[in-house]
Amino acid sequence: MSDFAQTVKQQADIVKVIEGYIRLRKAGAQNYSGLCPFHKEKSPSFSVHAVRQFYHCFGCQASGDVFSFVGKIENVGFPEAVRIVAQKVGIPLPKREFSSPEEAAGARMRAKLLELHEAATAWFEEQLRGPEGATAREYLAGRGLTPEGMKTFRIGYAPDSFNALRDRLKGMADDEALRASGLFSSKEQGDGGQGPIYDRFRKRVMFPIANESGRVIAFTARTLETGEKAGPKYINSPETPLYSKGQVLFNLDKARTSIRQHEFALLVEGQMDCISVFLRGIQNVIATSGTAFTEQQVAILRRHTSNVVVNFDPDAAGANAAEKSIALLTEEGFTIKIVTLDDGLDPDRFIRERGVEAYTAAIRGARRQSDYLIERARQMFPGASAEQKVKAMNYLLPHIRRMPEKLARDQFAGDAAQKLGIDSAVLREELRQAALRRRDHVETRAAALTEVERVLLRALAIDDPENEPARRLAAEALAGQPAWFEHLGTFQALQALAGRQARDPMDVVEEPGQRALLAEALLAEVKPPEASEVASAVQEIQERALAGRQRDLRAQIAEAERRGDFAELALLTQQKLELDRALRGLHHKGV
Ligand SMILES: [Zn+2]
Repeated sequence: MSDFAQTVKQQADIVKVIEGYIRLRKAGAQNYSGLCPFHKEKSPSFSVHAVRQFYHCFGCQASGDVFSFVGKIENVGFPEAVRIVAQKVGIPLPKREFSSPEEAAGARMRAKLLELHEAATAWFEEQLRGPEGATAREYLAGRGLTPEGMKTFRIGYAPDSFNALRDRLKGMADDEALRASGLFSSKEQGDGGQGPIYDRFRKRVMFPIANESGRVIAFTARTLETGEKAGPKYINSPETPLYSKGQVLFNLDKARTSIRQHEFALLVEGQMDCISVFLRGIQNVIATSGTAFTEQQVAILRRHTSNVVVNFDPDAAGANAAEKSIALLTEEGFTIKIVTLDDGLDPDRFIRERGVEAYTAAIRGARRQSDYLIERARQMFPGASAEQKVKAMNYLLPHIRRMPEKLARDQFAGDAAQKLGIDSAVLREELRQAALRRRDHVETRAAALTEVERVLLRALAIDDPENEPARRLAAEALAGQPAWFEHLGTFQALQALAGRQARDPMDVVEEPGQRALLAEALLAEVKPPEASEVASAVQEIQERALAGRQRDLRAQIAEAERRGDFAELALLTQQKLELDRALRGLHHKGV
């Protein structure tokens, strides 16, 4: 695969791409299912794994990665499939990969807009440092920002002028590109055409918004005026070929490494909150820019983590946004915790007034989402009357149903019943039903796999260094004693996986039947197995292999006795004694 295809594959979310063609529904913490587009069916046997980024149909055995799906459904070859996916994800194609002049023009435009944004950012920074930026610097200092902090986030200032930025940039690009950049406004003329352009952002502090690779693609601008003249407190860049509000997570470019290290993302509402928290050393923080999460943002985040700690403003709007985000993230199988800060402070003020240690402690004390929602239900519907209890429960039921995992639903329902003091059998039954409703699709399928094979397949599919011991244990057992594993239905897949090096598990197993079994193992479970699970699986395989050998020996001994071949009999008996001893040893170890 070319570097370009590799990049596209990394940035594309297979779930999103496939959802562009068929309807998928959540079927587990990491997988989705739907009706297979490649064969006729009435009940869904088509599954997509969100984390491992593959699809598999248990009906027709079609499976593969995002390119194979698009290639198959669009009926095109690999290079064209790469192009189609790149376009869906919004990655500009390298020149030789353009399939039409329009595509090439679009890519040139995006490149030009990036250049304009870079120039504008540098110029705004310069203005902030200059004499005109004094008020803005004062405002930022008042919010606890140091000059280094301003530099890190490339914060700038747009002076009070209608043409300063325009004059600065007009030599760099033609009128069409300047208009498309979103940096300028213009008035509609009497004839319906657009009038001359002028600077959109004036007398405002400029916060650049960067894409995942850290390049500026838009701005949020905060006014420094007060009173009637001020206009809205914040204005944002409009949608442009570079920027779509619902598809960007503020600060993800700087936070991504830390998110992976800490295995969770801290989600705050405002950009100032995000900047403030980041600059005080908590670097896995991102912001939604004051709105609830969109599905695209969820898809982007899922590539980095599936654990989120939410710290929105405690006001009603904040609580509503938090609730919507929680709902969406829950549906998408994220694990969510919620921080509420003392005295109704927002993250920015809290960390400035109480310090980073107090804030870290608050994050550590984040509540499970079920606890947060139950608490909120109690606040909204206080009192012990039956009516209030029913209202509180009706508020909670949709949240419970939304959770993809039965165990979590059960626990949530149980907690709700207990904490709301629900003793009516009818209400309890309703809670129980809510917990039951969402069924995991893949789990209920008849399994051709044994538990031992499941463990071994999942162990050998491990990619992260943290679980490497479990992978190594399985790989070494397989390499050391292949004979133990030969009788397994998945032997071929196990061997291919053991020798796969850095490749994707689904890519190394080619035989369709073997692939189906691997897909089943990967789709069914969320966590990779522990080393101890692998060890007991290996032991069970060994026992089975030895027991099989024992049966063979018994038959051979009977045969030797029948023939009266005493030399052979002595040899076989000796072997059987050794084997019996080995098996006894294993049983002891197992106890
Ligand atoms: Zn199919």
